[in-house]
Amino acid sequence: MEPIRIELPIGWSMGSVNAYLFTEPEIVLVDAGVKSDACWDMLADGLAAHGVAPRDISRIVVTHPHVDHFGLAARLVAESDATVWVCELGAPWLVDTARMWTERLDYYRRDLLPPLGLTPQTNDMILWSVRELAASADPVPAGRVVTFRPDGVLQMGGAAWQSIHTPGHASAQTVFHQPETRRLLSADMLLAVAPAPVIDQPAPDGRRAPSLPLFMRSLDAVAALDIDIVYPGHGRPFGDHHAVIARQRERIAGRKAQCLAYICDGQVTIPELLESMYAHQPPEGRIAGLWMLLGYLDLLLEDGAVRAEEAGGVYHYHVIQ
Ligand SMILES: [Zn+2]
Repeated sequence: MEPIRIELPIGWSMGSVNAYLFTEPEIVLVDAGVKSDACWDMLADGLAAHGVAPRDISRIVVTHPHVDHFGLAARLVAESDATVWVCELGAPWLVDTARMWTERLDYYRRDLLPPLGLTPQTNDMILWSVRELAASADPVPAGRVVTFRPDGVLQMGGAAWQSIHTPGHASAQTVFHQPETRRLLSADMLLAVAPAPVIDQPAPDGRRAPSLPLFMRSLDAVAALDIDIVYPGHGRPFGDHHAVIARQRERIAGRKAQCLAYICDGQVTIPELLESMYAHQPPEGRIAGLWMLLGYLDLLLEDGAVRAEEAGGVYHYHVIQ
């Protein structure tokens, strides 16, 4: 059967998030909105339109552990016998939620933000936004969580869906591909417009993963799939994934070239580049811009087009001639 889209309200920029329902042979819900009464009511209505109540759900499958995709999972398992299925890479965010958010805050405050050289007010705004997100997710009891391998197989709607690990927007992002019917549940990996890569804390002994370069490689992986319809995490389903991917590659290549041009022009710090690249956005709207900018710089570093030097504790970027 086709996944049934249930559009749920969220409080921030993208306006809504999708959950997908399979009613046969068992009730499976892919993603579970944000933790809010408005979202819960809309989900209950969406389920009821197909003769389903929250208590009837047997499985909730989480595409990636962002709060707009698993926000109601804890409430759903409290009201049903459902288990929550998530890729093993993302499970700690569902089970050990407080520790993961504390680690992210500590990483941002101690390691990520200081060498970016942003103002204390901007850093406070970023940390505040992380705390806001942390407050909008409840943990799921460990006994109700079932993990699957990043490249495993899930049964949904009477068909076998292949899980594919596609890091970039989220390091634990998975998409689900059904090869016979050529369907892709793309979550936030492939949206009509590319989402910002959210920076995750690295493993305790590791370095930050370059999220936009990873996203580009994940785009290549999705481009190679045979797909007729994409069911995205936000917005309406669409076809022609090759055209959507081509547009995103072109946009990212263009912005990367702009970033390089600004560096050539002598704008060599993150605050300078952010000001130039995101002049069209108010300061409070520039967090997603900052993640994109770090992504363009990661691409330029990977290309060998620029090098980063720390001077006075702050990164300076220089063009490699
Ligand atoms: Zn999302």
